[in-house]
Amino acid sequence: MTSLLDGLNPEQLAAVTLPGQSALILAGAGSGKTRVLTTRIAWLIQTGQVSPLGILAVTFTNKAAKEMLTRLTGMLPINTRGMWVGTFHGLSNRLLRTHHREAGLPQLFQILDSADQLSAVKRLLKALNVDTEKFEPKKVQYFISGNKEAGLRPQQVEVFDPYTRRLVEFYAAYDEQCNREGVADFPELLLRSYELLARNDALRAHYQERFRHILVDEFQDTNRLQYRWLKQFAGAQSVLMAVGDDDQSIYAFRGAHTGNMNEFQRDYAGDNVIKLEQNYRSHGNILDAANALITQNQSRLGKNLWTAEGKGEPIRVYEAYNDQEEAGFIVEEVKALQREGTALMDMALLYRSNAQSRVLEHALFSAGVAYRVYGGLRFFERQEIKHALAYLRLLANPDDDGAFSRVVNFPTRGIGARTLEQLADAAQAGGTSLWQAARAKAPASKDSAKGLPGFVALMQAMQDATQGLPLPEAIEHVLHMSGLAAHYQAEKEGADRLENLNELINAATVFANDPEAMAELDEAGGPLASFLAHAALEAGDHQAGAGSDALQLMTVHAAKGLEFHAVFLGGLEEGLFPHEQSMNEQDGIEEERRLMYVAITRARRRLYLSHAQSRMLHGQVRYGIPSRFLDELPSALLKLVNARRMATASSAYHGDAAPASATRQRNTSPWRIGMNVRHAKFGVGVVVSVEGQGDDTRVQINFGGANGMKWLALEYARLEPA
Ligand code: ATP
Ligand code: MG
Repeated sequence: MTSLLDGLNPEQLAAVTLPGQSALILAGAGSGKTRVLTTRIAWLIQTGQVSPLGILAVTFTNKAAKEMLTRLTGMLPINTRGMWVGTFHGLSNRLLRTHHREAGLPQLFQILDSADQLSAVKRLLKALNVDTEKFEPKKVQYFISGNKEAGLRPQQVEVFDPYTRRLVEFYAAYDEQCNREGVADFPELLLRSYELLARNDALRAHYQERFRHILVDEFQDTNRLQYRWLKQFAGAQSVLMAVGDDDQSIYAFRGAHTGNMNEFQRDYAGDNVIKLEQNYRSHGNILDAANALITQNQSRLGKNLWTAEGKGEPIRVYEAYNDQEEAGFIVEEVKALQREGTALMDMALLYRSNAQSRVLEHALFSAGVAYRVYGGLRFFERQEIKHALAYLRLLANPDDDGAFSRVVNFPTRGIGARTLEQLADAAQAGGTSLWQAARAKAPASKDSAKGLPGFVALMQAMQDATQGLPLPEAIEHVLHMSGLAAHYQAEKEGADRLENLNELINAATVFANDPEAMAELDEAGGPLASFLAHAALEAGDHQAGAGSDALQLMTVHAAKGLEFHAVFLGGLEEGLFPHEQSMNEQDGIEEERRLMYVAITRARRRLYLSHAQSRMLHGQVRYGIPSRFLDELPSALLKLVNARRMATASSAYHGDAAPASATRQRNTSPWRIGMNVRHAKFGVGVVVSVEGQGDDTRVQINFGGANGMKWLALEYARLEPA
């Protein structure tokens, strides 16, 4: 029998077998952090140091958690049922279901995803008669979630102006609304489970006693609340291991706090900081490019990676005329790689923004290449699926006003806006849910299938019909009884939607047969509730026709932790990557650079980088110059696979293909992209693009605020460095 520990290098071995002490593993991409974490869990169990139930392991995505469980069962003959391996949200959900009473929630509480949350905010603002020009629902939502993620309840938020005071009032009213309806949004899951443990000594003691080993992957992306959450589980005897890479911290914009790494060291790890420096993933050229790029960041803990592999192929750079040509190039290369024997699923197309996938999808579709998009419009976010889920949510919890509002008149059953307003008033006056108000106002009558009485009768009939049925059959009943199936059947463009509804039944079948998923049933309060929780928490990796070979499309954010034989990274243009919103701050550019580092380090053997001179985005044609990140890669590592003279500045990565005099033209202008400049009239701004040469040079500057973006001719503009 081969040992679990075979093939680990000395540092990895030390980390895996570290006896009874907490440690921080700080290491670059592809150095085996995730492998160490998984192997350590297996080793701890195999050597009898802990039972599977004594492990708490937190990963970043459901996909990663699943993968960890699969790898564990591959290494050990254990039953992973009941093991606490999951995401922060998934594990919080589990905790809250188990202790729903102590947490002040109904056992069948529903989870609001961020679209549901926005509808709930809109409903609230409407009920409060708030001017939504002044208080945009999205901003209110952002305020609420941001505070929850910082661990603050309304009474704890610091108020320094009347505007904030109003926002805090909305936050408080929103919380009340959620409690009344028995629903919880994503940040609520975390905050509430944190509070539950922080306030309940007995419960906290119980979990601290249980979890002897706590392990966290991708620790660099945890936020403050998540760290506080973790600390609740850590007792005097718990051993913690956090693994992370500060260079891959890409969620600062959502509150991730790299300072957690220092705190972790202070709180737990002490001198036990293990560095891993050998990269097992990528060939030399790819790794060298990643290293060269990331050294340009100022704020780093600093570490380098090496590989025992050869240099491999150069990184291929492609300059396209426009986004369609870029997509065409990518499709041809994908097909060529496929002919050479690379499976589609071992290739990935990465992009900075979801909006970029449309053109790529179109080209792939036309060329008949199978592909799968991760994290676009998620399956469970599609309109028809949301409608179906709303019926299911109402069955699980009739007081869920969000679900009620969504389907009370969908498909239409002649319930007018006025009736609904009266209903809302009645509910508010009586302090009841919409469902209760509806039932009081319109007792179900057998004669009318229409109007409110029809809806009340329908829900009651549905309740009876689905009682005790297996989940997939229950869903099938709901689709038919509700009229959703018939509605989409009759709709001209409804075929896709019908197919998705059928896919929902398939998803429920898969779910009902998944031992891992079912293991959580007892805690989640039955198949329907746990399926609904799954639908809300699932990270968008639902796969229609799973198992088939397909090219992987996703944003760079979503690619974290993954690896592929070949990676295509498109859209390397200023404004797109780095994203224009990041350009005004040093931290913003550094975060984009880390994101670029993540993208490059996903590739094992082959990496393509491409950019286009023009591209359609959000209905507008944009002209972009090549991303500064291309300039930051050593030209010796790059190979230009087509030489197209750019209309704007050319750059170093032209390598051999461009004459030396042409390569650094951009330097003849003293103004480089990203520089801060001062203009006598417009004030301080940031250069976002440079065009032309010598006296003809024009620069585009973002002055922010009212002045916004301006093109200025250098000859006249009299810019000064700021
Ligand atoms: P990331 O920072 O991208 O999450 P990581 O540090 O978690 O990367 P892993 O995904 O664990 O790295 O490992 C990268 C690849 O290297 C995997 O394919 C893994 O199986 C392989 N690997 C790790 N350690 C070894 C080893 N000692 N021998 C052979 N292959 C290894
Ligand atoms: Mg990893």
